[in-house]
Amino acid sequence: MIGIVILTITALILGIILVFTDLFINKKDNNEEEILKRLPGYNCSACGYGSCSGMAKKILEDIESYKKCRPLRGEKLKEMEEYLKKYIQ
Ligand code: SF4
Repeated sequence: MIGIVILTITALILGIILVFTDLFINKKDNNEEEILKRLPGYNCSACGYGSCSGMAKKILEDIESYKKCRPLRGEKLKEMEEYLKKYIQ
């Protein structure tokens, strides 16, 4: 009987860990997609990260790196700064 209780509690704890891990990973992917939408999409490598996708990943690590994207100007720059201020900190 005690074995079943221990097994149930262990499964419950592992289930909770899996749910939170999945939420964290999906949130990161969604943020990366949203950042990518706000980049110019030229894939020119001027930022030094190889592509806009590389830049989106870098922004998640270092929020200030979006400033290395020289083509990001005007309305797009404003949108990016508003998004980062609101969702990434
Ligand atoms: S500089 Fe900007 S447009 Fe060019 S690859 Fe980097 S993020 Fe994309």
